[in-house]
Amino acid sequence: MIEIKFSKRQEDIIEIVKNDGPITGREIADRLSLTRATLRPDLAILTMAGNLDAKPRVGYFINPQAAIIQDPSRLSGQLVRDYKAHPIVLPKSSSVYDAIVHIFLEDVGTLYAVDEMGMLAGIVSRKDLLRAAIGNRALEDLPISVIMTRMPNIITVKQEETLYDAATKLIRNHIDSLPVVVESDASEQCYEVVGRITKTTITKAYTELFE
Ligand code: ADP
Repeated sequence: MIEIKFSKRQEDIIEIVKNDGPITGREIADRLSLTRATLRPDLAILTMAGNLDAKPRVGYFINPQAAIIQDPSRLSGQLVRDYKAHPIVLPKSSSVYDAIVHIFLEDVGTLYAVDEMGMLAGIVSRKDLLRAAIGNRALEDLPISVIMTRMPNIITVKQEETLYDAATKLIRNHIDSLPVVVESDASEQCYEVVGRITKTTITKAYTELFE
């Protein structure tokens, strides 16, 4: 989309389409008490600039990408709280064998390990499990606490953060999953796991923006 300074009439057209799109060119012309012919160049400019899109027999509607640029609050309004998925949690004493079974049973890529108090202790990814499995035959006797990434090295996200914050953490840290945590009253850096945000969550939310 190119940056163009629109005329007052063009701004009015965008407003009408924003509120009532999809709407036909004739209806927009009627609203502005103009002829269809007078409006045609404005509609052409708005379509070429990428602000409006048009479909035959449907009419004009706001280009979804332009809608996000014009109203970025659509992104800042997406909170982790509303998008988080159910976390798959295992006691840190569970075996690597059990963890592999859970990865398949729950159809997830990452498991969260908790201590005796149910607080976040570690994270186990598919590659952590593969690494442990190479050349190691006693997977039933190997606890995940030995192979997991431990606190305080775990990147977490809080419910009131935005999905954009979560996406940034995933990308910057080259990881697939973030535990959604609530800080325990007992002490700092002591977290209860209440959800998970993964790259799939972000991809789903992204597609929803355009629907
Ligand atoms: P995979 O290892 O299957 O590619 P990830 O890219 O998510 O999956 O994990 C890469 C490494 O980072 C693993 O060793 C994993 O334990 C660790 N890890 C995964 N998620 C986190 C997180 N939220 N915080 C810290 N470390 C993590």
